[in-house]
Amino acid sequence: MFDKIDKIIKEKKLTPPDCTYHTLRPLENGGRLRVLVVKGEDVAHAELICPFCGKYTYSKQEYKKVSKTSKIRMRVECSSCGKKTKVEKLKGKKEKK
Ligand SMILES: [Zn+2]
Repeated sequence: MFDKIDKIIKEKKLTPPDCTYHTLRPLENGGRLRVLVVKGEDVAHAELICPFCGKYTYSKQEYKKVSKTSKIRMRVECSSCGKKTKVEKLKGKKEKK
């Protein structure tokens, strides 16, 4: 569970410069979200542990550029409960503690 994107990365031997977009973030209630967009593709691979029902979902969707004013990059729908989790843009610079 939650290794599908990991496998894609390993199979394709992707490194950060090969990725248009890649995020892995914790959600409330123990949920997790991972999104990967491979450079040159317009498909977003999304893995979700739903913060609402705790179920695992892997899905693909078209990756579209969003306007700069939008706070949300995309939405990932849970295949079990149908609730959508927003992928919010992270503001500012990357922080590492
Ligand atoms: Zn759910």
